[in-house]
Amino acid sequence: MKDMRGIAYRKGISLALIATFILYGCGGAEQASTDGSAMAASSAIAYTGATVIKGNNDAAIGNATVVVENGRFVAVGAADEVSVPAGATVVNLAGKTIMPTIIDTHVHLGRDRAALVEDLRNRARFGVSAALSLGQDEGADVYAVRGENIPGVAVYRTAGKGFTAPEPGRTEIPHWITTVDEARAAVREEAALGVDIIKIWVDDRDGQYAKLTPDLYGAIMDEAHANDLRVTAHLFTLEDAKGLLLAGVDAFAHGVRDQMIDADFMAMLAERENFVLGPNLPGRGTPFDVTWLEGQISEQQYAQAIAQASTRNPQAHDFFRIQARNLAMMNAAGTTIVLGTDGNTPWGPHLEMEDMVLAGMSPWDVIKAATGNGAAFLQLDDMGTIEVGKRADFIVLDANPMSDITNTRRISAVYLQGEAVDRSL
Ligand SMILES: [Zn+2]
Repeated sequence: MKDMRGIAYRKGISLALIATFILYGCGGAEQASTDGSAMAASSAIAYTGATVIKGNNDAAIGNATVVVENGRFVAVGAADEVSVPAGATVVNLAGKTIMPTIIDTHVHLGRDRAALVEDLRNRARFGVSAALSLGQDEGADVYAVRGENIPGVAVYRTAGKGFTAPEPGRTEIPHWITTVDEARAAVREEAALGVDIIKIWVDDRDGQYAKLTPDLYGAIMDEAHANDLRVTAHLFTLEDAKGLLLAGVDAFAHGVRDQMIDADFMAMLAERENFVLGPNLPGRGTPFDVTWLEGQISEQQYAQAIAQASTRNPQAHDFFRIQARNLAMMNAAGTTIVLGTDGNTPWGPHLEMEDMVLAGMSPWDVIKAATGNGAAFLQLDDMGTIEVGKRADFIVLDANPMSDITNTRRISAVYLQGEAVDRSL
């Protein structure tokens, strides 16, 4: 792809340069543009001929023209509706599909600068343009990286230190909350650091721990909302899911996992227009394909992926089915769905998208969840969709994911802010 763009660029610019030299000797392209000639050089790049999936509610555009200038989309539409600016470089993408880059709303990444930037760089390689880290982040580096615009890597957002009841033996980074006063003080502490969202865990971890009570998570939510922060919850049971909804939780970072959701839950959900679900489906428990990763990750990572993908686990499969059905029900009810993978697997979104389709969502809904919905959830207003004025972040695919969601893995190129991402391992 890099080569392709290089060739197109040279072709596009060569006539303009010849014209420049004829008119002005060695005067340069800038002067040439002032005479208004059609040959004037332009910094715009027009991507033509591809099918474009915009990541919002709009229909896909066949034979589209997408014009990028200064890292933003400046025109998006059907070829006969968009004119290519004079002097623009033209990149022919006939036969390809363009989709927005992916937003991963649930990750846990490195905490020191080098590791974190590397994690974000690896996300960009797989077409992920932003990632929200949920609740195990502390130290100056995470906030420094969050505030930077580093070329070629994904944007970083963080929930800082999350909130849980004491969990001796597990990570000690989150706030261990036992009183309402502690809860409120800790929320104010995270708010002062400028976290993007508040993360809570409500899970007894198979009976090992006491979990946050409604009194405590209620106080966390109340204090968060008073500080203009939303709250997303890790949860396990339907009972806690209902309690969290009643308390005003803004999002779930997992679906309900212990049983099928019921009419009571659906009625509560219907009252919550802005509620967001990140289903984070568990492993399927049946073999799945990871051979597409060969050469894209280290040999050690690939061997691990192959081993994981080959195992059969009926118990895990039942667990997957409960959550898949719950996702399908919530999606059918119109709940806003986003994509979240948990952990630190840069290519995870491509597996998760397939799982979401297997759960019963359409590829269309899944792509919207993974792109436009995710950006809206992270309040990244100029990202997530292919629309004029937004950051020129997009993935060029060799095949259309609307017919087969696994085509999101057939990446030809990734662009962030109009620049091709270095996808080399
Ligand atoms: Zn998590």
